[in-house]
Order: sequence, then structure tokens, then C-alpha cells
Amino acid sequence: MSMVMTMESDALVPSLTSVEAEFLGKVQEFVAREVAPFTRDWEDATAFPDDIWPKLGAAGLLDLAVTKDHGGPGWSCRVYVDCIRLLAKGDPALAMNVAAINGLCIGHLVHFSTPEQQAKYLEGARKGQIRMAWGLTEPDAGSDARRVKTVATPLDGEPGYVRLDGEKMFITNGGRADLIVVMARMGEGGLSAFLMETDQPGFQIVERIHTVGVKASNTVRFKLDNARAWHTPCTFDQAIGLLYRGRLGIAGMAVGIAEKATEITTEYSKTREQFNRRLCDMQSVQNMLADNATDVEAAKLLLYRGAAMYDRGDNVVSISSMAKLFSSEAANRCTNNAVQIHGGRGMTRMSLAEKLWRDAKLTEIGEGCSEIQRMVIAKQMTK
Ligand SMILES: Cc1cc2nc3c(=O)[nH]c(=O)nc-3n(C[C@H](O)[C@H](O)[C@H](O)COP(=O)(O)OP(=O)(O)OC[C@H]3O[C@@H](n4cnc5c(N)ncnc54)[C@H](O)[C@@H]3O)c2cc1C
Repeated sequence: MSMVMTMESDALVPSLTSVEAEFLGKVQEFVAREVAPFTRDWEDATAFPDDIWPKLGAAGLLDLAVTKDHGGPGWSCRVYVDCIRLLAKGDPALAMNVAAINGLCIGHLVHFSTPEQQAKYLEGARKGQIRMAWGLTEPDAGSDARRVKTVATPLDGEPGYVRLDGEKMFITNGGRADLIVVMARMGEGGLSAFLMETDQPGFQIVERIHTVGVKASNTVRFKLDNARAWHTPCTFDQAIGLLYRGRLGIAGMAVGIAEKATEITTEYSKTREQFNRRLCDMQSVQNMLADNATDVEAAKLLLYRGAAMYDRGDNVVSISSMAKLFSSEAANRCTNNAVQIHGGRGMTRMSLAEKLWRDAKLTEIGEGCSEIQRMVIAKQMTK
């Protein structure tokens, strides 16, 4: 069935169950209490406090990928993306980390690790006691992920274990992680994924990378020099297949940023007066507000549609790219308008608009830049 037919035959976006709505209400309270008030402090410190991880675990926010058969709540993808959206309204950098840790790291433990590996790591990861990161990107392997050069060499006398040699770049939470899912090349065996504990001499941080937005996120470049790691029995395609759900997570982050920027700007435009009129009574400002509101609604619909398709077991290759592409570009338009409407204040710390504007950029680049999303969508259309 073609991608277009699949989409035409879909039902409307399903609504939340009462259990889902109750959980999301609690997440909203958690964000208001534990996240939003600290977003500037965390950015200034370029770090999250250590206790944020157990707090996230206790709030159920590290359980978003744990299926019922692994003792988890088995939340739908719709709940996952809404959690990321709500977190992004409080702090986009934390939302990005929670998206990656659930979708790519804990998701990897759940779907592609052995029972022995799960027994060792899953419970700790869910509680925020084992902090995780996901390492695909390298200095010479970005959009073209198959260029990964990190080599995995089997260790003599230790079946299932390898030594890793190579370098990884732009890894979220990489400097704080206890356990990293590392993509590497296994001789003739092709690319695969490995679980690597960071508490070993073979793992060395080369640099902390300071980014223009999502500054609180610990982004690093690291070197692997004879680092011991545990093979997880999966193909490269399976491992990076998690990115399809992951992209819906980044789309959730983008929608949260766009929504927050629109909310604070609408309020501001009602209080600021020039030429004896409120900004919100000026047509040019109204145009920007209306464009923002339309972008937010359209992005949300794509996001929830993508999540609903995932939950039904449909192919989400195309819809996840569409949701990420549209919502990330919408977030950049909305935050740009937010800065504009705030005028001079929009370029200062007097408003959150400037921070959201900087944070929004990541959504057009992380987990595949917009050009790659367009390439994926067009490929599905023309195959
Ligand atoms: C804050 C942050 C956090 C990140 N976290 C992680 C992480 O946790 N784990 C991880 O593995 N990676 C992570 N990344 C890496 C991210 O996924 C890559 O930066 C992204 O995939 C792009 O790769 P690149 O930076 O090497 O850019 P390149 O691949 O060099 O691309 C540069 C630009 O070239 C253009 N381009 C590239 N290919 C094409 C094409 N085929 N067609 C048209 N145009 C093209 C695009 O405009 C693109 O933006 C993170 C990045 C950032 C900035």
C-alpha cells in the first residue's frame, strides 16, 4: 500500500483515555514544579542538577518506552510525545534529553538487548540511577550515518564482548552518562550496537561542546580507545529504526517550544502599548500571532497523527519525518515571531522568547536535519 493511501485510510487522531489524561496532568504539575522555574538557572550552569534524573524516574518520565512485558506502564506513543511536549514547555534541553533517553537508550534496552543485559541495566535506567546516552554521530559520520568508523573487535575468551576504538561527537548527556549505546562497525559483520559502561579508562571525554541553544544539555565529543563493550544482538537498521519513533519525540519538543513561545507572546502583546494601542490590536502583530497559532495546531495534528499511526503499528517512516520537519520549522518561525513581537526585550533575558528561539534550532538539526527528513519523505513517495 502506498504511503498516500495509508494516510487517507486513517481514522482521526484518537483522544486520550482517562488514565492517560491523568498521567499527563501529573506530568504537567511536575513540569510546573520541578522544571519550568529552573530553566534559566540550568542554562546558566550549562548543566542539570544530578537529582533531576531520580526525580524524572519517580515521575514515570523514564518509563515512556518500557513495555508492559518488561514491567513498564506500556504508555502509547501519543503519551510519550505529549510528555516531551509538556517538558519542552518547561525546559527544551531537558525535553531533548528525556526524548533521547527514553526513545533511543531505554528503547534500545527494551527492544534489542538480551534478558541478561536487561536484568543488569533496565531497572536502574528507569529509576534514573543509570544515566544513559546514545552514540551514533562521529566527526565524519553525521547525516550519512553509515560512515561510522568506530570499530568493534571481538574480545578473545569473552563471547559477546568487544573492544571499541573510535570517536563520537555531539552526544547528548555523553559526559554524564554511566552507560552509552554505541554504534560501531564489526569487521565483515557490518554495523551494530553495543552497551558501553563509561567507568573505564578506554572511555575519554575529548571536549564538552557548548551549543547556542539547549545549553544545559551535556553535549560531548568522546574517544574510545580499547573500551570494553557488550554486543546487543541487533542489526544497524533495527538500532537506528528507533529514530522513527525518536523523530516524533523531537517533533513533540518542537511543538512544545512553538506553543510556549506563542503563549508568552500572546500575553505580552496584550499588555504592551505603543501608539496608544496594545500590540495585539495592531494588524501586523495579529498576523504573526495568527500564523503562530496556525503553525502550532497544524504541527500538533501531524504529531498526534504520527503517534496514533505508530500505536496502530503502521509504517511511520514518512509521517515521523513529516511531523519532525514541519514542527521544527514551525518552532523556528514561531520563536522568530515571538522575538519580533517582544521587540528589544525579545533580544534580552527580559523574556524567554530569546531562549526558546535559540533552543528551537536544535529541532531542525538533531535526529536528522530538515534536508534529510525531506529526502526520507520523497524516497517513500517515489519508491
Ligand atoms: C545539541 C545536539 C545534540 C545531539 N545529540 C546527539 C546524540 O545524542 N547522539 C548522536 O548520535 N548524535 C547527536 N547529535 C548529532 C546530530 O544528529 C547531527 O548533528 C545531525 O544528524 C547532522 O549531522 P552533522 O552535524 O554531521 O551535519 P552534516 O551531516 O555535516 O550536514 C550538514 C548540513 O548539510 C546538509 N546536508 C547533509 N546531508 C544532506 C543531504 N543528503 N541532502 C541535502 N543536504 C544535506 C544539511 O543542511 C545539514 O544540516 C546531536 C547534535 C546536536 C547539535
